Amino acid sequence: MKSFLHLTVFILFLGLSPVACAMPIEARVVRQEIRVRLLPERHLLEGESVLELAPGAVGTLTLSLNPAAEIETVAAAGRGAPFRRGDGRMQVDLPRTEEGAALRVTVRYRCVFNDPAPERPAVTEDPSYGVKGAITSRGSYLGSDAGWYPAPAAGPTRRTIAVSAPAGIEAITAGRRVMRKTEGRITRSVWEEAHPTGGVSLSAGPYVIEERDAAGIPLYAYFHPEDAHLAPRYLEAAAGYLRFYAAQFGPYPFEKFAVVENFFPTGYGFPSYTLIGATVIRLPFIVTTSLPHEIAHSWWGNGVLVDYREGNWCEGLVTYLADYLQEERKSAAAGRDYRFRILADYASLVGPVEDFPLRLFVGRTDPASRAIGYGKAAMLFHMIRMRIGDRAFFGALRELFRKRCFTAVSWDDLVQAFSTAAGEELSSFVKPWLDLPGGPRLALAEVAARRQGRRWQVRGKVTEERGAYPLTVTVRVEGKANRSDTALRLAGGRTPFAVATVWRPARVILDPEVDVFRLLAPAELPATVNRIKGSRELTVVVTRRCAAGGGTLSLLLRSLGQEGAKLLPEENADPAALAGRDLLVCGMPAHRELLPELPEGVSVAADGFAVGGKRYGGEEDLLLAMGVRPGSPGRVAALLLPLSASAADKAALKITHYGRYGLLVFSGGENRVKGTPPPAGGEGVVIPQGVRR
Ligand SMILES: [Zn+2]
Repeated sequence: MKSFLHLTVFILFLGLSPVACAMPIEARVVRQEIRVRLLPERHLLEGESVLELAPGAVGTLTLSLNPAAEIETVAAAGRGAPFRRGDGRMQVDLPRTEEGAALRVTVRYRCVFNDPAPERPAVTEDPSYGVKGAITSRGSYLGSDAGWYPAPAAGPTRRTIAVSAPAGIEAITAGRRVMRKTEGRITRSVWEEAHPTGGVSLSAGPYVIEERDAAGIPLYAYFHPEDAHLAPRYLEAAAGYLRFYAAQFGPYPFEKFAVVENFFPTGYGFPSYTLIGATVIRLPFIVTTSLPHEIAHSWWGNGVLVDYREGNWCEGLVTYLADYLQEERKSAAAGRDYRFRILADYASLVGPVEDFPLRLFVGRTDPASRAIGYGKAAMLFHMIRMRIGDRAFFGALRELFRKRCFTAVSWDDLVQAFSTAAGEELSSFVKPWLDLPGGPRLALAEVAARRQGRRWQVRGKVTEERGAYPLTVTVRVEGKANRSDTALRLAGGRTPFAVATVWRPARVILDPEVDVFRLLAPAELPATVNRIKGSRELTVVVTRRCAAGGGTLSLLLRSLGQEGAKLLPEENADPAALAGRDLLVCGMPAHRELLPELPEGVSVAADGFAVGGKRYGGEEDLLLAMGVRPGSPGRVAALLLPLSASAADKAALKITHYGRYGLLVFSGGENRVKGTPPPAGGEGVVIPQGVRR
């Protein structure tokens, strides 16, 4: 999803049209041919582009192109045409043509692209790592915002891209591949888009190509030779996801689908291909997480486009339809766990300073904006689905895709589509979730049970501080072998409930299936890596036995977004002074007060550790175990126990990818164990007063 910049430019021009009489008339481009030659040794691109204008074009043609590009010639109707440049734009004066005749403008240019790609970057939330354009012998990437071709303000109706490069350097971009061959010292390929939807990106490198066909859709893997063995797994999975989403929403809207490896760690979903960095593509879970996510963007974000003026709904929808739905299809419990992790992420990562209304989300810039734009939004789609049912929910999306593919759609359009399918006006239900920051804080209060003859009567209240959300929440009363669910419509700040049972109630649970977005209380939160990422009170304690080098520790902290955290040698760490802080402790501390409450089944010794009955004592082993800090309510501690400097170095940049876990074991940088210890308690589960324990 990278169409934001382009869309803004487009809107700007639409906005100008009412005063067009005073402005030069803007010509419309019907067809564009882009021919580029890549010279990686010199980081150079030599390009020629032919733009065919709609008949009757007069006035000027405005194109955006990298300001550093050197323009060799500009011709219109076969003759040199005057042009002006400034602000990354060029304006070409068009000659008069005969009535009804098409006009062709040709621009020849050259430009160096050499943004430095990070060698070993810590994970950041900027998915581009600051690289817009780089042509190198390791690989080439030209983003749609790099200005690597002269781009008209409004996309052409058809676009062809021809790329030539030194033999063996394979290029890939949007559209159908109509030709590819190596002749002599040149490898060439030609791509054609039937529905250009904005800017276009290009990648090239020494790729090994693997191909197959998924019900008429060509599937490609463009992988570096050392990772080529991963290609079959990616292609097989991609074919399955394409089938699944096509059955859900309608035919796949592009000419091909490709998985392309990048030489720096991106995770982009472009129209008709996804660009995934080498270090990421090797992570074992990407094929079941990022891949379905990027494929689902083919329908939502790249197929049906986002009207960014009204906020970005596509990340939340894709998170729900890909990341989440994959889990729900495994089991109801896996789906519930995923929803709980969304709530836990939000509570761990979004503080009052970072919070903002969902409608203002445009793209992720840090873990907090991700928890809002992806997580909270996914929960909103879940609540809509719970309210209107699967038939109306998926039916609305199918209909929206059928009618609005390749046009920009807003939150309000989506809500309208769901309302129509459900036969119920949903805007007042959705409004507070879109327009208010945060969410409801729900708790059980005054819960008591009374025996009346052979029956039991359970009474209590559900409290909600703000009273701003039209919510129906489930209250579950559980006995030893029975349970009873009651749907409670919340009204104001305190809503009473009463449940009668013929069995002895043991406990009462609020929203047991996690169907509602709410702000969890600290005691309801599991201790996870995300708590460290979201901590505003983190101290890093380095013990004498910490095997990680200083460079490795700072790399780890940077990847967790905690580069500013204070490092303290254990001899200077006063446990009493650290009572109100979250801790990351490297190596076994001499002061046991610095240790977290270790998860069940975890034990540590001087020469190793054990998890779930298995002992780890090898040089390459590493443990990260999180828990609450005894005596420090709401605070967590992480014990980082690498058994050598190399074990720490190999796992350092991977830990951040496991944000939702609180127990991790790595061996030689490979993940061996991942788990999340359950939270200690909370206000959502209570034992009613009056019941004998
Ligand atoms: Zn996405």
